[in-house]
Amino acid sequence: MIGAIDIGGTKTMTAVLSDTGNIIESRYFPTTSRDWRKHFQETADTFLDCAKPYLHEISGVGINVPGMADSARGLLIYAPHQNWKNIPVADYFRNALSISKIKVENDVNSCAIGEIVFGGGGTDFLWITISTGNGGAIVSNGKLIRGSTHCAGEFGHLKVEYTNPRICSCGQLGCLESQSSGTAIGQIYREKLVQDSSLLAQTKQAEAKDPDFQRDARGLSILAEGGSESAQEIFHTAGRYLGRAISYGVNIANPRRVYLGGGVAKSLLLLLPGIREELEKNAVPGASEVEIMETKLGYHAALLGAGALVLQETI
Ligand SMILES: [Zn+2]
Repeated sequence: MIGAIDIGGTKTMTAVLSDTGNIIESRYFPTTSRDWRKHFQETADTFLDCAKPYLHEISGVGINVPGMADSARGLLIYAPHQNWKNIPVADYFRNALSISKIKVENDVNSCAIGEIVFGGGGTDFLWITISTGNGGAIVSNGKLIRGSTHCAGEFGHLKVEYTNPRICSCGQLGCLESQSSGTAIGQIYREKLVQDSSLLAQTKQAEAKDPDFQRDARGLSILAEGGSESAQEIFHTAGRYLGRAISYGVNIANPRRVYLGGGVAKSLLLLLPGIREELEKNAVPGASEVEIMETKLGYHAALLGAGALVLQETI
């Protein structure tokens, strides 16, 4: 059995997994505290609570952090959302949990390792999230590319729009994250409602039918799947931005596959025509045949990734 902890930007999950990646027990709570000691204490308590009956059987615990990690030293280098810097994550949890094997990794890198251990596998692939933001990881020749200062695979801040760019949370213009994250797609949808009366009518109809309907990327996907051309067009454009970012990665690393994760990856069929269009335009012919698919890890990709860290030693 293995322990898995996913410290995310908005929520923290702890779980016990079987060695084959089944979730046996799990707990979660919101990531609210900016004080890392307080948050880590709550995380350790929550983990111990859910792992209590299995503690003697747990071979190690994998921990995802929402930022750059030095996995060799078990450090969180920088988490921008919480402004956490140089935190000895592995040391802290080794003491707090009294478990000697603690592995620490950036959350999207973990997803890529999880894909190797429990998912669709592969030795040459990109792993990209389309969620609140866009994160990425690169696996080449079976090795995770971490980079010289732990920031390889930052797909979210590849520039994909120069003519009419949106402002990114990093302060730059036209980053993938500002054009094609779940947050950006939701914003673009709400902006379009002001000038597109048919999209507004479709939205009001959906709201009347379902009181839980939200004016966000998920809501937009319901409209698109229901035949709304305006909604489909927003996904097509988002797909094109993703296709641009993927083409940069494809030209550099020549992967066989691209795995997409995060809530918006569920809308892959709506995004795919735009992705393919830009790949054909921008990727070199030998590399553009890359397969694009949704992660095989499902909703709990990050948690399975954290668990996989314990099993995959050498990557
Ligand atoms: Zn940016």
